[in-house]
Amino acid sequence: MFPDEGSCADFLITLRWPNGFICQQCKKTSEPWRQTHKRLVCPHCRYQTTVTAGTIFDKTRTALTTWLEAAWHITTAKNGMSAQTIEKTLGIRYRVAWTMLQRFRVAMVRAEREQLSGIVEIDETLIGGVERGGKRGRGSKKSVVVIAIELLQPKGFGRIRMRFIPDASSDSLTSFITDVIQAGSTIHTDGWLGYNAVKLLGYNHKVTVISSSDDQAHVSMPGVHQIASLLKRWILGTHQGSFSTNHLQSYLEEYTFRFNRRTSKSRGLIFRRLLEQAVATSPITEKDVTNGYNWKET
Ligand SMILES: [Zn+2]
Repeated sequence: MFPDEGSCADFLITLRWPNGFICQQCKKTSEPWRQTHKRLVCPHCRYQTTVTAGTIFDKTRTALTTWLEAAWHITTAKNGMSAQTIEKTLGIRYRVAWTMLQRFRVAMVRAEREQLSGIVEIDETLIGGVERGGKRGRGSKKSVVVIAIELLQPKGFGRIRMRFIPDASSDSLTSFITDVIQAGSTIHTDGWLGYNAVKLLGYNHKVTVISSSDDQAHVSMPGVHQIASLLKRWILGTHQGSFSTNHLQSYLEEYTFRFNRRTSKSRGLIFRRLLEQAVATSPITEKDVTNGYNWKET
C-alpha cells in the first residue's frame, strides 16, 4: 500500500488533517501546495511546514517507508517486536530501530487516555530481578509495577493500565488510581494499607484479605495475576528478559496498547490507530529515547 515516500506522506496528511489541512500560522483550512512529498505551503499566507513537523516523526532522517514498515510489524506481530528483531527484519541500524520503537511507544500512550470503569481489580507485582548475565539474588533489583484490570460481567477481562512506581506506598498507588480509573468505579484490592484512601477518593472499595501464609492471589485476584504472568513472559520472550528500569514504563505502555486491542479483528485498523496517534503526539527528544521518556508529562 505504501511503495514510496509520496504515498506515505499522503497517508500521514490524511491522518493528521482528516478535515482538510489547517495552517498553523493563519489557521485557515485549504488545499496546500505540495513543494515536496513532505513539504506543504499554505496558499493563503505562504507559511511552510511539513507533515512530520511537530509529530513523533519530527526531524527524522529515516524514510517514511521505513517508519510505516516498522509500524506495520509492531502492530501485526502477535507479540510485537524487539528493537533487535526490527533491526534484522528491516535491515537498519539498531539505534534507528530502537529510536522508532521508543517514539511509537510514546504515541501508544495517547491512545489509552480513557479511564477504566466498572469493576476494576488492582494489585502490585514485582518485575525483573535477573540482571544481564543471569545473576540472581544479591545485586538483583526488582521493580514494583501496579496493574489495574477491568472485570467484565458475567465474566472476562476488559482493558488494563499499568505503572512502574517507586514503591507500594499510598501516595504512589492513589495517584495511579485517580489518574486511570473513573470515580464511582468499584475497586477490588487486597488488604494492603496503601489502598485505604480509595473510598475517600470517591470509589467503591471491595477488599479481599489474602493471608500471607497461603498463596491465593491467583484465586482472589485472577485478572491481575494473569496479566502479571503474561507481562513477565512477554518481557522474557520478546525482550530476552533484559530491560533498563529507565525504559520499563515504555514496555508497559506497549504491552497495554497491544492487550487492549487483543480482540480487534483488523490489524490494519490498529496500524492506522497507531499512526493517527503518532501524528498527534509531540516530538520526542534524543534524551527521551536514550534515558527514558518523562511519562508524567503525558
Ligand atoms: Zn496560512
